[in-house]
Amino acid sequence: MHVDPMPIDELVTLVNEWGTLPCRVDGRAPRPGAASTVLADELHPVFAAPDAATRATLVTALLRATDVRPTLGLDLTEAWTVAEPAEAPRAAAALTLRHHLAEHPGRLGVCADDQCADVYVDASPAGKRRFCCLTCQNRARAAAFRRRRAAQRLPAGGGPAD
Ligand SMILES: [Zn+2]
Repeated sequence: MHVDPMPIDELVTLVNEWGTLPCRVDGRAPRPGAASTVLADELHPVFAAPDAATRATLVTALLRATDVRPTLGLDLTEAWTVAEPAEAPRAAAALTLRHHLAEHPGRLGVCADDQCADVYVDASPAGKRRFCCLTCQNRARAAAFRRRRAAQRLPAGGGPAD
């Protein structure tokens, strides 16, 4: 069966909508056992990985597990196949990550806000993105501001604020 890589935005949406951790952290009920949840939970660690070598190992394991094979399309373009149709979504995701990481190493991540575990692709010019969205960025900034203010209000000796 022929497989095409999925658009990276679609992959990010899949992980964030279906992943057990993204659901649990922001208070949505995870859907254990659903095919999309199983796949999302395999992909989330690629975004959470601390370094390139770990990402490479995870993506290679995904590619191997799906047994996706390179072929040549009849129009002489790059093409991919899997023997087992049920593996097509996993193979499509693995191909997407393989391609993305080979082109932009390191530009994947998990939201730095502590009330969110959504993943993102960093398309910013500087490559310093830390949050999945502006809402999380603003929430984290507001929380940091409140923490600093509370710390300033503490009397010497460190009693509770207010
Ligand atoms: Zn977030």
